[in-house]
Amino acid sequence: MSVDIRSSAAAMAAALRTGEVGSEELTRAHLARIDEVDGELNAFLHVSDDEAIATSRDVDARRARGEELHPLAGVPIAVKDVVVTRGMPTTAGSRILQGWVPPYDATLVEKLRAAGLPILGKTNMDEFAMGSSTETSAYGPTRNPWDTDRIPGGSGGGSAAAVAAFEAPLAIGTDTGGSIRQPGAVTGTVGVKPTYGSVSRYGLIAMASSLDQAGPVTRTVEDSALLHELIAGHDPRDSTSLTDPFASFTEAARSRDVRGLRIGVIEELEGEGFAPEVQARFTESLAALEKAGAEIVRVSCPHLEYALGAYYLIMPSEASSNLAKFDGMRFGLRVVPEDHPTAERVMAATRGQGFGAEVKRRILLGTYALSAGYYDAYYGSAQKVRTLVQDDFAAAFAKVDVLASPTAPTVAFRIGEKTDDPLAMYMNDIATIPANLAGIPGISVPSGLAEDSLPAAVQFLAPALADDRLYRVGGALEALLEESWGGPLLDRAPQLKGVSL
Ligand code: GLN
Repeated sequence: MSVDIRSSAAAMAAALRTGEVGSEELTRAHLARIDEVDGELNAFLHVSDDEAIATSRDVDARRARGEELHPLAGVPIAVKDVVVTRGMPTTAGSRILQGWVPPYDATLVEKLRAAGLPILGKTNMDEFAMGSSTETSAYGPTRNPWDTDRIPGGSGGGSAAAVAAFEAPLAIGTDTGGSIRQPGAVTGTVGVKPTYGSVSRYGLIAMASSLDQAGPVTRTVEDSALLHELIAGHDPRDSTSLTDPFASFTEAARSRDVRGLRIGVIEELEGEGFAPEVQARFTESLAALEKAGAEIVRVSCPHLEYALGAYYLIMPSEASSNLAKFDGMRFGLRVVPEDHPTAERVMAATRGQGFGAEVKRRILLGTYALSAGYYDAYYGSAQKVRTLVQDDFAAAFAKVDVLASPTAPTVAFRIGEKTDDPLAMYMNDIATIPANLAGIPGISVPSGLAEDSLPAAVQFLAPALADDRLYRVGGALEALLEESWGGPLLDRAPQLKGVSL
């Protein structure tokens, strides 16, 4: 096989096209890697060997017949377990959905299947996507391949770890407050949160419907562009799905030209609260872009200070409503108490045992914020803050093309370090949450190694529907930094001590 599992998805796709490698061989190589390392990482909750191999064979046969195939046909992919997959277990990292096998596919999964991407399996995540470390999963934490004593970020730590550890070249994540970008930042991978409404949410198990968005998790900016183009598009089954057209993401990713691009550094998202070396890699990244012809200006978004507070009212409010359907009657777990098993008591017992502490905390918060006497004081005020955040971004984008900040305030922390301190955990998303409140797109691109030789990252934000700008600036920064490093950042990772590649 002349293409190895460390290649980019684009390189794998090219090798498949020329026949240097077959999809079956490529898929088996990834399944073997999962077999080798996932006992240690726990990035996968379910591996779908048979189905992935069947898909790969089908693609190989179609290619042999000379059929016109999608550019990514035959390249394997992993899917976050919050996305429903027909015939394949889907738990959202929760015990309450243990054993549930969905009878339908999410729209984005239909697209992956139609394009011939073998689905390797479902990736681990914080329960119902609530968390920043993948520690709230009911199925045990995922470990960061850079250092297995550390968290891989969250909620999509499984997808990010799988891609960073070469278990999958591509993965799907979801981002409600940063769950694609923050895991990307702490694992040295690329993650994109698309414009709200541009990728169908049909078949995503909803956490907070006005914030949730699915997107790509990859090792290169170009790979994210390729995957994003595949999963985006209008879907009549999602009432918030957009119909607007987009400029080409792959062309933007390949242009690597930032001359004249105005990049605004968000004053409120740097300095204090950000680890010194994370901040240093951010400053160096901007200097590299400036040298390549971008214009760097400072902008202020004064209401970002309140974004985290508003998010932790809006998100739990929506989640408390979305999670009401897990009642022991319709899906997954049902706990029947011995005495007087009335419907109400079955529901209470099922929810009591089926949900973990973080999910319960948020249901309580949300129910409280939505209660009659407090609705205006909490939920209403949070919605007003949301508008102020949107206005801040609108004013900033009148002056600049993209905005920039470090993606996460620190490098990956140790497993267990923040589990007893929900507020400290929530602070991980200080830089990513504002984009979700405003519905705008964001990308996280590795910026180098920071504290303890662990990855740090830069986040770029663009106006709604201008996702192509993220690929332009992200692709350019990746090329500039890789030139200075002499190769991809992941080449400098131990990638699981003691496990050979
Ligand atoms: N970490 C944030 C939270 O706990 C964001 C999660 C997400 O984007 N799904 O809510």
